[in-house]
Amino acid sequence: MELPEAVSVSHLNLYLTCSLKYRFQHVDRLPRLFRAAGMVFGSAIHKALEWLHKERKAGRNPPLDLLLRTFEADWHAQCLDEDIRFKDGDDPEKLILKGKELLSEYYRLPAGRVKDAELFFQIPLVNHATGEVLGVPLRGVIDLIEEDDVIGELKTSLKSWSLADLPDNLQLTAYSYAYEVLFGRPTKDLKVINLVRTKNPKIETLTTGREKRDYERLFYLAKEFLRGIRAGVFIPNRGCWMCKDCEYDQDCREWTGNEEEGGEKDARQRLPAGSRELQARAAHESASRTRR
Ligand code: SF4
Repeated sequence: MELPEAVSVSHLNLYLTCSLKYRFQHVDRLPRLFRAAGMVFGSAIHKALEWLHKERKAGRNPPLDLLLRTFEADWHAQCLDEDIRFKDGDDPEKLILKGKELLSEYYRLPAGRVKDAELFFQIPLVNHATGEVLGVPLRGVIDLIEEDDVIGELKTSLKSWSLADLPDNLQLTAYSYAYEVLFGRPTKDLKVINLVRTKNPKIETLTTGREKRDYERLFYLAKEFLRGIRAGVFIPNRGCWMCKDCEYDQDCREWTGNEEEGGEKDARQRLPAGSRELQARAAHESASRTRR
């Protein structure tokens, strides 16, 4: 099976949590019938904070009101083209209010000087212990870089994180590795800034660090991820935390295994029945839009 152009940590995490969902999303590229409201919420918060950090990087301090309007505009823009699925007890008004409360609190926090925001990287992934270079580059975006070599990773979640969640966090490892490659020196601190969407919204910051052996671990995980894809290994992980909001639940239920690469069947025939229905429906909707 064809390898991806690059290894991104979000793809790697997705594969490790549910490789079948990875296949549906990134190999088969199935259209999704809905999007979870929590994803839309997180994305709108990220967009608003990206804007704030870029303003601060340029030496400006924009008013809070503009930050809140940026969030709300992004929320509405995302809701235009997709069916958004809300959890019980949630609705758009409640989520917009929660988002504004969290952003207001973030805005008032003492902040380090912003050196960069949403920094894209695509770099070779090298195993320092052996000198081996991974066949495809590592790709990602660092949310926030502050002075004194501090990296900030923004999260939105429904619960607090603990320090025990940090050592195995691959995003932090990848960003720390990328920082060393890009700037030629190690990070001083890696901060997780968690905007917690509880009844009383709050912001929590946890700090950690990384060592060379963490980079080695990332290298081996990425290498096995590529091997899994090349071999066509995609297995459902029913019961994992992603199942409750999974856009491919029906395809997953109808899945009957992965065909061998190079088999005689047409690629479309290798998809589960639900997937073919979705693709047919998407093609139909696309054709309808074109006709309109
Ligand atoms: S429903 Fe769960 S197991 Fe199935 S593809 Fe989605 S995340 Fe994976």
